[in-house]
Amino acid sequence: MKQCAIALGSNLGDSLQTLENALTSLHQIRGIKVLKTSSWYQTQPVGPPQPDYLNGCAILEVQQTPEELLSLLQEVELQFGRVRNEKWGARTLDLDIILYEDKILNTPSLTIPHPHFTQRAFVLVPLAEIAGDWIEPHSQQTIAHLVKNVDCSGVQINDKK
Ligand code: AMP
Repeated sequence: MKQCAIALGSNLGDSLQTLENALTSLHQIRGIKVLKTSSWYQTQPVGPPQPDYLNGCAILEVQQTPEELLSLLQEVELQFGRVRNEKWGARTLDLDIILYEDKILNTPSLTIPHPHFTQRAFVLVPLAEIAGDWIEPHSQQTIAHLVKNVDCSGVQINDKK
């Protein structure tokens, strides 16, 4: 079994429900165990104006290779990633592989660690909550250390349950 960290995000539809359901769905897949989940955080979007995001991270124990895991995450995105009445194609769920053991991987379909995550407070804050000791393989720094280098002011813990 391998450990990996994934990031979850949503800013369309009932984000809280979507994220919770996505975790349940992942846990039901053979070969995947959800070991830890972070709190959900309300985060300000980067880029063009759009609703705030709800973001979080989870630690998974998986039997799958990174490529197999990516394809399963994409299936779950499709399962939850479209809201009825929304224009077909609106993405309500984003699932990314952030870390996979201490692997460094660069293929056309997969970059691990996830590109730029070390600059993204909306990934680092939830990840630090559940995996502060994990060492990011490029920098050889822990997540707890990396989160101190980013501006976390746009990332607020979500108190709506
Ligand atoms: P996005 O629409 O931003 O979620 O990007 C999805 C695309 O990013 C997919 O087609 C993946 O092949 C690619 N990708 C590259 N690295 C990763 C990763 N670590 N986790 C998830 N998707 C990735």
